[in-house]
Amino acid sequence: MREVVVVGSGISGLSVAYRLKQKGHDVVVYEKDDEIGGTIKTKQEEGYLYELGPQTLFADEEVLKFIEELGLKPIKASENAKYRYIYKKGKLIPLPLSPAQFLTTPLLSFTSKIKILKELFSKPVEEDISIAEFVRKRFGEEVLNYLVAPFLSGVYAGDPEKLSLKYATPRLYEIQRKHGSLLKALLKEKRVAPKGQLISFEGGLSELINTLAKELEVHTESVVLRMRKFEDHFKLDVRGKKVETKSVVVASPAYTSSYLLKEISFSASEIFEKIDYPPVVVVNVGVKGKIPEGFGFLVPRVEGKRILGAMFMSKLFPGRAPEGKELLSVFLGGATDREVIELPDEEIVNTVEKELKEILNIESIDFVRIHRWKRAIPQYNVGYEEYLNLVRDMEKDYPGLFLTGNWIYGVSMGDCIRASKSVAQNVEGFLASC
Ligand SMILES: Cc1cc2nc3c(=O)[nH]c(=O)nc-3n(C[C@H](O)[C@H](O)[C@H](O)COP(=O)(O)OP(=O)(O)OC[C@H]3O[C@@H](n4cnc5c(N)ncnc54)[C@H](O)[C@@H]3O)c2cc1C
Repeated sequence: MREVVVVGSGISGLSVAYRLKQKGHDVVVYEKDDEIGGTIKTKQEEGYLYELGPQTLFADEEVLKFIEELGLKPIKASENAKYRYIYKKGKLIPLPLSPAQFLTTPLLSFTSKIKILKELFSKPVEEDISIAEFVRKRFGEEVLNYLVAPFLSGVYAGDPEKLSLKYATPRLYEIQRKHGSLLKALLKEKRVAPKGQLISFEGGLSELINTLAKELEVHTESVVLRMRKFEDHFKLDVRGKKVETKSVVVASPAYTSSYLLKEISFSASEIFEKIDYPPVVVVNVGVKGKIPEGFGFLVPRVEGKRILGAMFMSKLFPGRAPEGKELLSVFLGGATDREVIELPDEEIVNTVEKELKEILNIESIDFVRIHRWKRAIPQYNVGYEEYLNLVRDMEKDYPGLFLTGNWIYGVSMGDCIRASKSVAQNVEGFLASC
């Protein structure tokens, strides 16, 4: 009998498996696809090195330590990554980086700036409300449309009317609970933004995945089809074989985890199935022409364009595009434009080319690769507490069962890596008690 089976070879599954292996445990990872990494997929073609899923990893001290332990050398994004742009009325406007820039930015009207100052007198919010409701009340529609909504489409490809202040932006929720006003927090605390570095690797983000997998027993094309719990062990049907194990770490997305939990708790399975994962289309484009120094730009929905934004990947990291060309990663879709996933390639390329030419000073497109994520990112919408409580109940009621992934511990790669520490500790605690 195995000690630990991990279902899924995304960053969540691999980092838990790695930590357990380091402690001397017997661990095997089963992955349904023919390649490892889940949403992390780096490709190299025609002199371009591009990402199909996540583009950068925001690493705090804990994540950097984990990377260092693996012997990996991260590459820091260019200093210019601090320049981020919002598209407004035909122009890219830099996000203000200082109070002086804030006062003069054309991004917001005088009325919105006054409203922001008035926020100083706001009272904390305790309940689970949508980010749109919170922002609209405090700062008004313009701040919602031109600052907050684009930020949320950059992280969640989400809908601010549905995303929960408490669960999608827990840091913001806690800050306003502590200080009442966000502006007051900004003036009072030396640091409001999280501390860390934006990184990748020479070979892209897959380098992290490949390094983890090198240390592990990972079987690809090994979908876990069925999971049953017996008194002191689990029986898994993995493509072509049966596996018995003392514990299981289910590190697949909510919609597959829900399927796997059917025979353990049908009701829990039905609840997890409800978690929304809107589609996202990522278009990597190689272009000729001059693009600004910086991270990239976001397009507010009210500007009437189809693309959500683009990242200037060849400006962020070296070696991403051939000499004289630039690499952009463009995003479409999300919770407010689900139909985009159905569009034919030609229509997607035409839209991207037309809108990029309207927004940037590019001459021509030299390279295009489209990737469709049918179910991209879990939406931490209002009411998400129900799912998180259920995860805890399931782990308590079925000893040896552990659930993890970006739908429980936060959507960033950093969140998944940080979570792996406590998940691995819980598994170890369970194994010690067997
Ligand atoms: C387009 C896009 C852009 C993003 N950009 C960023 C970014 O810039 N920075 C950032 O930090 N994060 C970003 N993210 C989020 C981040 O990539 C993910 O949250 C994270 O990689 C999720 O890892 P995971 O291991 O939890 O899940 P996944 O990566 O989804 O891995 C789950 C794995 O389980 C496997 N699996 C499913 N069912 C079974 C089964 N029955 N049997 C066996 N295996 C199974 C799947 O095939 C998959 O490999 C982005 C995500 C997307 C989609």
